[in-house]
Amino acid sequence: MDEDGFVLISRDECLDSNSRSYVSEIDSTIEGLWASLWPLNTFIHETPELAFKEHKTHKALTSFMRSRKGWQVTPSAYGMETAWVAVYDSGKAGPAVSFNVEMDALPNLGHACGHNLIATASLAAGLATAEMVKQHGLSGKVLLFGTPGEEGIRGGKVRLLEAGAYEDVDISLISHPGILNNSALVRTTAFARLEVEYFGRAAHAANSPWLGVNALDALVVAYNAVSVLRQQTMPGDVIGMAITNGGAAPNIVHAYAASVCVIRASSVSRLSELQQKVSACFRAGAEATGAKVEIKATQGYADHVPNRVLAASYTKYWKLLPDLPDPPIPSGEQLTWVKASTDQGNVSYAMPSVNASFSIPPGRQGGQPHSRDFEEASGTEAAFARALRVGKALAGTAVDVLATPGLMDKVKEQWRRDMLAAKEASAM
Ligand SMILES: [Zn+2]
Ligand SMILES: [Zn+2]
Repeated sequence: MDEDGFVLISRDECLDSNSRSYVSEIDSTIEGLWASLWPLNTFIHETPELAFKEHKTHKALTSFMRSRKGWQVTPSAYGMETAWVAVYDSGKAGPAVSFNVEMDALPNLGHACGHNLIATASLAAGLATAEMVKQHGLSGKVLLFGTPGEEGIRGGKVRLLEAGAYEDVDISLISHPGILNNSALVRTTAFARLEVEYFGRAAHAANSPWLGVNALDALVVAYNAVSVLRQQTMPGDVIGMAITNGGAAPNIVHAYAASVCVIRASSVSRLSELQQKVSACFRAGAEATGAKVEIKATQGYADHVPNRVLAASYTKYWKLLPDLPDPPIPSGEQLTWVKASTDQGNVSYAMPSVNASFSIPPGRQGGQPHSRDFEEASGTEAAFARALRVGKALAGTAVDVLATPGLMDKVKEQWRRDMLAAKEASAM
């Protein structure tokens, strides 16, 4: 109600009856999958496999999808042993909606990033969307992509994008568990890794230091220059630096020194500015000492740009589902910032994307992702139930796109606007 006493009818309140009937059908379809998805979720959680080595998980997921009627499954897709694709085709031209299925675990920590729950949510969503396509005679395709190796520097989604896997796909949906947010409008950071080497000339540090060129001095000048730069960085910029080789012995003028630096920023364009500034600091070390510098940059992941139109659908279904969990999902266009990075960010630069955050009941220590506590929390039935709830909201989002005339155009128009804004999102 507004200040003048008029009742404002929000978008939430004038939900068409379609959404209400879809939500109850999706809800019961996914509840009906509980018994087959729970053992699969537990198997993945208890069989942690590292990036690009998800062989058992790949087998379990592709076998499961093969057992579902109407799905065409391609294992070891696009040149990756553990990537896979499953397609449900209505046979009628229409939008192609997709869900990404993550599979990898962390070294020594098992499924401490909860990727078993991501797999469960996406599988549930894909199956329920296909069921709705069948029941309502909708046009288009539903795709599930098994995306390996998210916990790396060149993730499976980046490789799938390069291989053209998403060429005929219109939207990409995924989720990620945590303990802090339920949100459809999630922004993550872009990151890159810089490896720096300095080549000087060795000399005896006591006898004839003037004959040497000190590579470690060059690195120290660079490290200090980066520290000074930090005062003028933007909110969202992060520069982390480690000295990986600081010289051989204290009585030598060091011929060699090396460092690794990870930079993060809120957008790809800002990241490239920051990379130039940090590289200038590295060159300053070389200039000051006479050492030679070599900088090798590896692009990590792009920031995730969430699609507002898709996110509105997700939020609508999240609220329509019974038993709303805490914390409340933000309404309107309030963004949720997550400082981590994901290769779904790269996907969001290729097509409209949602990467929904969802909370699971925390472990005893309230540990966040990448902790032992979160690994335990990710394996519980309560966490699984949350993943299914997310699957329902993701399915609703996909069904909206497939069933609502003109919605796909709105989603794509928003994406084009977002891409223009992302290009301009820099300090200069
Ligand atoms: Zn992670
Ligand atoms: Zn993760």
